[in-house]
Amino acid sequence: MSSGNGTSGTRRRTAVVVGAGIGGLAAAVTLRRVGIDVEVHERAAELRPAGTALSVMTNSMTALASLGIDLRLEERGRAIETAELMTSTGGRITTLPYRDLTERLGAPSVCVSRSELQAALLEAAGDCPVHLGSAATGYTLDGDGVRVRFADGREARADLLIGADGIHSAVRRQLAGPETLREAGYLCWLAVTPFDHPRLTPGFNGHYWGRGQRFGLHDIGQGHAYWWGTRNMSAESAREWKGGKDEVARAFDGWAAEVGEVIRATPEEAVHAVPAQDRPFLERWGEGPVTLLGDAAHPMLTALAQGGSTAVEDAVVLAKCCAAASDPVAGLRAYEEARRARTKWLVDNSYSLSRNEQEERPLAMAVRNTLMRYAPSSLLMRPFEKAMTYTPPRFGADG
Ligand SMILES: Cc1cc2nc3c(=O)[nH]c(=O)nc-3n(C[C@H](O)[C@H](O)[C@H](O)COP(=O)(O)OP(=O)(O)OC[C@H]3O[C@@H](n4cnc5c(N)ncnc54)[C@H](O)[C@@H]3O)c2cc1C
Repeated sequence: MSSGNGTSGTRRRTAVVVGAGIGGLAAAVTLRRVGIDVEVHERAAELRPAGTALSVMTNSMTALASLGIDLRLEERGRAIETAELMTSTGGRITTLPYRDLTERLGAPSVCVSRSELQAALLEAAGDCPVHLGSAATGYTLDGDGVRVRFADGREARADLLIGADGIHSAVRRQLAGPETLREAGYLCWLAVTPFDHPRLTPGFNGHYWGRGQRFGLHDIGQGHAYWWGTRNMSAESAREWKGGKDEVARAFDGWAAEVGEVIRATPEEAVHAVPAQDRPFLERWGEGPVTLLGDAAHPMLTALAQGGSTAVEDAVVLAKCCAAASDPVAGLRAYEEARRARTKWLVDNSYSLSRNEQEERPLAMAVRNTLMRYAPSSLLMRPFEKAMTYTPPRFGADG
């Protein structure tokens, strides 16, 4: 590594991060850790994460630990013990031993509300400025740096621009031109609710698999459950779904008792709906002092529970590559190179696993469930183990 303190000569490097989601806030934390001055610009007028939850997987924890960062998420959520795979009515298919794997990998995977994760990231970002109501519209390369334009006419100049502005990224649009979304043909409902139920033991993660439909029920600690449900439908119906809780409850009529109970326990306004979408993998993430991170670079479906965790991992690798390179632009290209193969694998495998999970042909479902019932758990865990294993970047001559 060179100086490792983010300086070029005596001046500290600067970065504008566009987007204050998981990826943008994680980048603020990790870039500051290596001595780069960061300002974050967020389009939303207030920092209010969707009132749901997610699994923050082991790879993001070990990546952060490699920079000496501990978000203490086990205290804010609940470490995953096992994943119980079941039929829609609750019949056991198999149990995946997450605790054994996470102990072997050296860090837990944690189910946590998005608001707790955001609070942890903001705390770790310290006094990093976060400008709200600041929607980036584009950028101009400017000498050694970059100028970012905002919808209200303001501009910000920095050595680096990190586009962490999500699946509809404005930074990506300028870099890659117009692209179409890939619609997976199903809708996800999701919610967090207080839920006291004998099934929701500490660290419980239940996955119920029906016909073109799944349901997930997760303990996130502090007496709360996170649930999500999916249902196959046309891309247009998924994009435009405007139903309410009763329709969700009807979609899971006849499923295991706890499924109906947790939906009924959820306040109407706590139920969110998101169409399942990603994008075909983008090979080129940057130009000059501009790069992409998180969903802006590689949106993926949810099968491996890795979109947010991979964004955190991106942020760690980005900071390491910037610290290792004497030339900031070379640092960004090294980051993109270090991330390409792994994130492509995650996007492609999330997509193919998701098709298998949303299977609706009865014979194919029966074969799938039988194979899963009798396959060794080590085989079933293989893609998850690969996803949950953080491999640090290797540095070439510049690092
Ligand atoms: C149903 C569902 C379940 C999921 N479960 C998991 C899980 O269990 N584990 C996991 O790791 N991941 C999960 N994910 C994926 C995860 O939510 C995303 O991958 C993650 O939120 C991506 O973070 P991000 O910061 O890259 O993008 P985002 O979270 O989309 O954040 C982008 C931010 O940029 C802002 N923004 C957008 N445009 C602009 C602009 N022009 N200027 C300024 N700001 C802008 C947005 O307001 C937003 O705050 C799930 C996703 C879904 C839909």
